[in-house]
Amino acid sequence: LIKITDIKRNFALGDEIVYVLKGIDLEINKGEYVALMGPSGSGKSTLMNLLGCLDTPTSGSYILNSKDVSKMKDDELAEIRNKEIGFVFQTFNLLPRTTALDNVALPMIYAGYSKSDRTARAEEVLNQVKLGDRMDHHPNQLSGGQRQRVAVARALVNKPSIILADEPTGNLDSKTSIEIMTLFNEIHAQGNTVILVTHEEEIAEYAHRVIRLRDGVVESDVRKEMMPTNSI
Ligand code: ATP
Ligand code: MG
Repeated sequence: LIKITDIKRNFALGDEIVYVLKGIDLEINKGEYVALMGPSGSGKSTLMNLLGCLDTPTSGSYILNSKDVSKMKDDELAEIRNKEIGFVFQTFNLLPRTTALDNVALPMIYAGYSKSDRTARAEEVLNQVKLGDRMDHHPNQLSGGQRQRVAVARALVNKPSIILADEPTGNLDSKTSIEIMTLFNEIHAQGNTVILVTHEEEIAEYAHRVIRLRDGVVESDVRKEMMPTNSI
C-alpha cells in the first residue's frame, strides 16, 4: 500500500535550511495498524503530512497504491488526498458553524457525490461512530470526544485506503481517549489501514506495529503478534 524510499524533507527558514526527515524507508501493508512515536521535533507530523499527501518530500519516492505521489502537482495531490486519505487531527479541525452531518458530508462535495448520496453516507458513518442522535449539533454543542468522533466519521466518509491520525487523543482525557481508541480498533477490524501518532505508550499498545522516529530517522520498527481485541 505504502512504499517510501529514502524520503528527505528540508525546510528553508530564512537563509538557513532545517533538515527534518533525513532519509526514511518504510513499507506499510494494507490492513496494518501502526503507531508512530518519537520525541517532540523528531519529524512525526512532517512524515504524517507526507503520508497524507498534504506535502511532498524534498527528495525520495513515495508510492501509494502503485502511484508515485512524491512528484505530483498540487491539484493531482488534492485528488489523491480526497480519494485515498482520511486525516484526523489533534484539534479536530471541524467547521464551527456547520452541523456534524455537514462537517462529515463536506469531503464528499469535492468527490462529486449528489446531495442525497452525501446525506445518506454521512448519516451512515455518523451512526457507525455512535453519533446518530447528534447529527444536527454544531461542534460547540458536542464534547471533545464527540467532536473527535465527528472528525473520525469525516475521515471515513470517502472510504479512504488509509486513515491517518496525528495525536488523535492529545486533547482528550484518558477515559475519552480509550473510547476513541476503541473506535480506531473497530475501524481497523473492518479492514482499514490505520496509522496514528502518539506520545503515550498506552495508546501505542493498541497498534500492532510501533515505529519510533528519532531526529528524522527511523530508530526502531517493531511488529507485535496480532493481539486479540475485544471490540470486534
Ligand atoms: P511533536 O511531537 O511536538 O508534534 P513532531 O515529531 O511532530 O513533534 P514535526 O512537527 O514533524 O515534529 O517537526 C519536526 C521539526 O521540523 C521541528 O524542529 C520543526 O520546527 C521543523 N519544522 C516542521 N515544519 C516546518 C516548517 N514548515 N518550516 C520549518 N521548520 C519546520
Ligand atoms: Mg507533531
